[in-house]
Amino acid sequence: MNKKIPFSPPDISDKEIENVIEVLKSGWITTGPKVKEFEEKLKIYCGVKNVILLNSATAGLFLCLKVVGVGEGDEVITTPYTFAATSNVILHCGAKPVFVDIGDDFNISLTTIEKAITKRTKAIISVDFGGFPADYDEILSLCKKYGIKYISDSAHSFGAIYKGRKAGLIPDFTVFSFHAVKNLTTAEGGAIVFNSDDEEILRKLKLLALHGQSKDAFTKYNTSNSWYYEIEEIGYKFNMTDIQAAIGLAQFERYEKEILPRRKAIFNIYNEILNKENFILPPFKTTEKETSYHLYALRIKNIGEEIRNELIKRMAEKGISLNVHYIPVVMHPAYKKLGYNITDYPVSYRTYISEVSLPVYSKMKVEDAEYVAKELLNTLIELKVL
Ligand SMILES: *Cc1c(COP(=O)(O)O)cnc(C)c1O
Repeated sequence: MNKKIPFSPPDISDKEIENVIEVLKSGWITTGPKVKEFEEKLKIYCGVKNVILLNSATAGLFLCLKVVGVGEGDEVITTPYTFAATSNVILHCGAKPVFVDIGDDFNISLTTIEKAITKRTKAIISVDFGGFPADYDEILSLCKKYGIKYISDSAHSFGAIYKGRKAGLIPDFTVFSFHAVKNLTTAEGGAIVFNSDDEEILRKLKLLALHGQSKDAFTKYNTSNSWYYEIEEIGYKFNMTDIQAAIGLAQFERYEKEILPRRKAIFNIYNEILNKENFILPPFKTTEKETSYHLYALRIKNIGEEIRNELIKRMAEKGISLNVHYIPVVMHPAYKKLGYNITDYPVSYRTYISEVSLPVYSKMKVEDAEYVAKELLNTLIELKVL
């Protein structure tokens, strides 16, 4: 029997389970004290002034675009090398996604962003692919030059390092995801973090996240004779529950000590075994940046789409789950219908057809990572790629 190596199972310890039980027994299960506590911890961790927890990163990206005022007729620049959430929210605002191809670190290419800026551009959303930070300072200064806002899709990069600080500090808004496959999970969840003194932005985000209601349920519950509230804006329903925050608080406690170092150890094993001529290893550390070790995105030289797909199939037969990050957004039917064409993004296409993501998760054993890397090499020999 082969070993079964999943791609990215969640790492839930007794601590998460105890925390959830405590909340379930507490009498308060939706947004309340646990969400507040988690927000305060994230503020300190990211070194930012404001955090708002939500039910997903998608909701967070959407709300950021809303408070920036993105609407009909506007353009938002982003990368095609991402999950569709990044660009779907632009379309939900009635605006047009303008895709800019990536560079060789999988992230939006700085050299081509400026050419894509027009009078209609309202914002740029970069993606920290695989947990490796985008060029925050450079993108922010471009945004300042043209009077547009900078939103970072940091769904992958909670805990990543940029110039000695945690991701979250530099862009106008940074959005993390706590979805089940992400580094730190609340099952479903997300956060917007930002370092502005403008209290109005936080107020507006909180309002929009909960139907535009002037008081949330917990405030009403805790204030006497406080049945009265007003709907100040036509808002949405994006709040995080205390049950989710309870999972997040346990994950957070284990994150720096346990979860992140273990992911890093898996990366190191892959880097050692796969440090070969035929591979391009994922970016993970430079003098200015360090990844959050979210995805081990390996590029294989001279492979091509067909053999890459065969590789994934054969590895699956051996019990090893690989993945591809990403099918460029513009290759999906819904985006093709809007007129986008992958031939306009040659680096994204080249990257896509040569990429496989290897399993990385905090409970993964060192032997399992060695097994994956060795089976990968064997299979590539079978396929005459090596
Ligand atoms: C997971 C992911 C999202 C969406 O996160 P949710 O919390 O599931 O909404 C957005 N962008 C990228 C790059 C992602 O990987």
